Amino acid sequence: MNTSVLASPVFSALAASLIVLLVGDFASTFFYHVPQHAWGKLHLRTHHDRRRSYWDHAVLSRDPQVLLDGLLGAVPYIVLALLCAVISVPGAILGLLLGQAHVWWRHTTELGWRTPPWFVRIARAIGLVLPEDHDGHHRNPEIEFGDIFRFYDVPARVLLVTLRSWSRAVVRKRSRRSTPVRRAAALKRRAVAKQS
Ligand SMILES: [Zn+2]
Ligand SMILES: [Zn+2]
Repeated sequence: MNTSVLASPVFSALAASLIVLLVGDFASTFFYHVPQHAWGKLHLRTHHDRRRSYWDHAVLSRDPQVLLDGLLGAVPYIVLALLCAVISVPGAILGLLLGQAHVWWRHTTELGWRTPPWFVRIARAIGLVLPEDHDGHHRNPEIEFGDIFRFYDVPARVLLVTLRSWSRAVVRKRSRRSTPVRRAAALKRRAVAKQS
């Protein structure tokens, strides 16, 4: 590639914004969203609260719990933007703005948004999450992971299954370990009862 292209501020800005979105979504999905679905309560109680509209949750709500879930999900993007500021400050800011615009856009299905077929084709080609896709995650929290990119969905589901099987294994191990202790305590209680 021509080195003058690589050195151009427009190229650096595009590269920085793409890294913020791509790596930010990766980190947010695998280090926050999926672990929340496996072990957490905050995201399920806020983002997946079926009693309230998700447009309200994702965009309008000022409930501290909802804001905290949004902030924790956004931390990876913010960290990436700080790192990518070395490449291009406007690019890093653009990445954050596009990420925030996508949050608003992906929650517009209940406001009546329908993506035109020509844009669906483009989104499928680049793996972009459409509002209709994210609507699927709200209807069924087991599917459609990846906030911005759909190709994170399959590995995210694999990670979710893995984390849950680890949790089950830990619970089984703990209950196996505590069974002899419980049995010994019960025998002791019985012996004390007999003596008294
Ligand atoms: Zn959502
Ligand atoms: Zn979720």
